[in-house]
Amino acid sequence: MRLLIVEDEAGMARALRRGLEAEGFVVEHAPDGPRGLALARFGGFDAVLLDVMLPGMSGYTVVKTLRAEQNWVPVLMISAKDGEYDQADGLDYGADDYLVKPFSFVVLLARLRALLRREPAPRPAVLTCGALALDPATHEVTLDGAVVSLAPREFGVLEALLRAAPAVVAKLTLLDTVWGDEDAGPNVVEVYVGYLRRKLGRERIETVRGAGYRVVP
Ligand code: CA
Repeated sequence: MRLLIVEDEAGMARALRRGLEAEGFVVEHAPDGPRGLALARFGGFDAVLLDVMLPGMSGYTVVKTLRAEQNWVPVLMISAKDGEYDQADGLDYGADDYLVKPFSFVVLLARLRALLRREPAPRPAVLTCGALALDPATHEVTLDGAVVSLAPREFGVLEALLRAAPAVVAKLTLLDTVWGDEDAGPNVVEVYVGYLRRKLGRERIETVRGAGYRVVP
């Protein structure tokens, strides 16, 4: 089993390499984001241990780039518990699992083995409607091939509409899907549909009176 460790802290990288080699893994190490990405692209690894805070390019960008290139190598993200990042962000960007530093080597090994046992996760297909495309794996939205930058809630509303298309989605369903248990009223859905229309074009999201919204090609 070949592993890639992308980690800028030399001591941490050394300790991981020693421990993992003792377990029989073949280990390569990259000390920054760009070199990690280059190795992950072409190295034929069975899994990647990826730090979040890295010189040159964050671990999030590395995993996001790999997934955008349809590279599904299992990625275990490792992040410091500094509150700066939401741990789950890594999963949104396409990591398979994450560990928070400090962690015990035994836990790392168990999570790694679980990851290696797993079948490659079936990735969600890109959702499209006319010139509009949304990739649930990479969170990228494009219109006529040009990337459209959306806030997380905007993305959530659009994803729900695209998954249901061509059916109409009720306002309360959108509220429930995107805002969950949060204390938000249905007006917030109207507001976000307005934001989306501004970014994607008015005609792209149709209001069906008394029923809800639908996305149209
Ligand atoms: Ca780091």
